[in-house]
Amino acid sequence: MQYEAVIGLEVHVQLKTKSKMFCGCATEFGADPNTHVCPVCLGYPGVLPVMNEEAVRKTILTGLMIGSEVARFSKWDRKNYFYPDMPKNYQISQYDLPLCAKGLVEIKLNGGATKKIGITRAHLEEDVAKSFHFETTSGVDFNRAGTPLMEIVSEPDLRSPDEAFAYLTALREILISGGISDCDMEKGQLRCDSNVSMRPVGQKAFGEKVEIKNMNTISGVRRALAYEIQRQTAALQKGEKVSQETRRWDDATGRTSVMRTKEYAHDYRYFPEPDLMPVVVSEEMIAEIRKLLPELPEAKRQRFVKQYGLPEYDAGVLIASGTLAAFYERAAQGSRNPKAISNWVTTELLGKLAEAKKTIDECPVKPEQLSELVSLIESGQISGKIGKEVFAEMFAGGKAASLVVKEKGLVQVSDTGSLDGFVEEAIAKNPKSVADFRAGNKAAINFLKGQVMKLSKGKANPQLVGEILLRKLEGG
Ligand SMILES: [Zn+2]
Repeated sequence: MQYEAVIGLEVHVQLKTKSKMFCGCATEFGADPNTHVCPVCLGYPGVLPVMNEEAVRKTILTGLMIGSEVARFSKWDRKNYFYPDMPKNYQISQYDLPLCAKGLVEIKLNGGATKKIGITRAHLEEDVAKSFHFETTSGVDFNRAGTPLMEIVSEPDLRSPDEAFAYLTALREILISGGISDCDMEKGQLRCDSNVSMRPVGQKAFGEKVEIKNMNTISGVRRALAYEIQRQTAALQKGEKVSQETRRWDDATGRTSVMRTKEYAHDYRYFPEPDLMPVVVSEEMIAEIRKLLPELPEAKRQRFVKQYGLPEYDAGVLIASGTLAAFYERAAQGSRNPKAISNWVTTELLGKLAEAKKTIDECPVKPEQLSELVSLIESGQISGKIGKEVFAEMFAGGKAASLVVKEKGLVQVSDTGSLDGFVEEAIAKNPKSVADFRAGNKAAINFLKGQVMKLSKGKANPQLVGEILLRKLEGG
């Protein structure tokens, strides 16, 4: 029998706010453990939470971007459970009245087709603390506790690990473009749980679903789903039952294992949070937030392809970060070769940034400076190879391209008089290559060309060198 997978994803996103969801503590990542804490986020008895309005606005903006219905009235609920990273024994979340309901995210499938994935809801809650396990003890860092966390739940519309991958990629692009979150998975800013069940092809009813947790990368989600689909299919084909449970993904072994049998909503004894007022969203507020709507990633990708003549792939790399896209657009402005600018940004610039562990915001080279460098190459004043040298210098010292070229005397030699000398020297020193060329091995000219470039320390204009060489070799 043929089976098909039914997959739904729950994505948790840490919102990019300065302070936590219900107190004034900083949300800064990477501080010493338990330094951004107060009685509220430590869960002391008797404290009162105060709602972070910016987090509510960011959730509404997300809802507008994915076409949700934004609730004019929603409320907070307590989700009760005991766990060491949640000392007040409940998490403030939203249960039956979330901020956003319904919505759609369009994904791109292999081969270029698109598919619309339904969104069930997006609600706001607080993140929990983080546990660390040492050799003989465990510790809890409360810096993360209380960070605004948005949960986006998809409909079970996904049918394969590749579709789940495409969905997460599209959602991440949307969230980044709206400044909702940086979605840095290494910092745990975007986390994902997945529900997956199998059913015979053609059957409407869902099979028993399994929840998978602990997938830390988008590609990890794809691998975990592929494993789980195979495991469940094998069980069903043997006539075994798949039990409803929560499983943990182990990225190192590439397997899932049982964590616990599935809990149900009533296990959490949800009830309205008595310490917080319901959230009332006015039409004015929605109109105000609507003004912040960014150009959506897919529209931006298409615009980059059209406006700058870029391949889809390049456009995708550039729009993956709002600041990178803005950097590119500033550099490409007024350039005669926006494709060349894209090449420089996506290879040299991103390479150097990765090497220096810097973000695009910290890039020492300004967009206008990169633009100048590319036009120096375009106009033939320096070669592409020298350009890379100049770029390294610019990156190290923040200097303008023309200044580096001038200081280091790197201007390309395009004057035939000086090139003649180098060509003569290369011909005199390499009689064998000359003979080869004249005997009909036309490729031998490339070696000679390389020699001339070497003699000129890379500064000779390669095209002119080719022409002069050819003239001298053919002329006798
Ligand atoms: Zn706090």
